[in-house]
Amino acid sequence: MDKLIKSISTSGAFRAYVLDSTETVRTAQEKHNTLSSSTVALGRTLIANQILAANQKGDSKVTVKVIGDSSFGHVISVADTNGHVKGYIQNAGVDIKKTATGEVLVGPFMGNGHFVVITDYGTGRPYTSTTPLVSGEIGEDLAFYLTESEQTPSAVGLNVLLDENDKVKTAGGFMLQVLPGATEEEIMRYEKRIQNMPSISSLLESDDHIEALLKAIYGEDDYKVLSEEEINFYCDCTRERFEGALTTLGKADLQEMKDQDHGAEIVCQFCGKKYQFNETDLEEMINDKA
Ligand SMILES: [Zn+2]
Repeated sequence: MDKLIKSISTSGAFRAYVLDSTETVRTAQEKHNTLSSSTVALGRTLIANQILAANQKGDSKVTVKVIGDSSFGHVISVADTNGHVKGYIQNAGVDIKKTATGEVLVGPFMGNGHFVVITDYGTGRPYTSTTPLVSGEIGEDLAFYLTESEQTPSAVGLNVLLDENDKVKTAGGFMLQVLPGATEEEIMRYEKRIQNMPSISSLLESDDHIEALLKAIYGEDDYKVLSEEEINFYCDCTRERFEGALTTLGKADLQEMKDQDHGAEIVCQFCGKKYQFNETDLEEMINDKA
């Protein structure tokens, strides 16, 4: 079971989220059959979205679109405030590693583009905010977004580690934010600690990476855990929703599907689930239009 832990320094000047997203990214890889680089790019985007959704109150939805101009195409993800996230990557087949180290490459194959965040508070008037991609590595792009767009100085580290068969071994990350009232001295102390902390990959390698992350973030400073929340990959698609989409087509289009294709199949792009509509289903839709 994946989890997200919210914590705050005892001084009240810093807060941090730490995440174990291993099952989330593993499920995404299974559903989309992603190869190495695509797995990491999609996984990091899902983790970024889990962080952004945890930052919202009430019953909200947060969509993250990483719109790059290189091999991956777009990475699209939607999360809600109940711990659910879903997402997909346009090109699931990117598999590029450094020959010498086997390190999976992401940023260069995202290319230039934008980090788009759409927040829907359930009012029907979603709020969109966009920042340029800094590196396409996702973690840095999220930190830049939080600092620029939400005006909260933030540090982010997130990653997906793969095993020798390119399957997900561990995934997770953290976000640290400076809150109003932090003293210069405190800010410098935390900055120095973050700059000198072990790489996110080596922290994720720890037996308990949640503990390792908290220790790396807070060091000798006291903190308290505010909450521990369950997070997972979950797609809310239903047959009814796709049926609704089909019925928005014209009568002629539906007739053509019935006569020529003898049915219709719709694949949910977020989870890969297939929905079949046979000739009788289409006939009913056509009759409903008459
Ligand atoms: Zn779905």
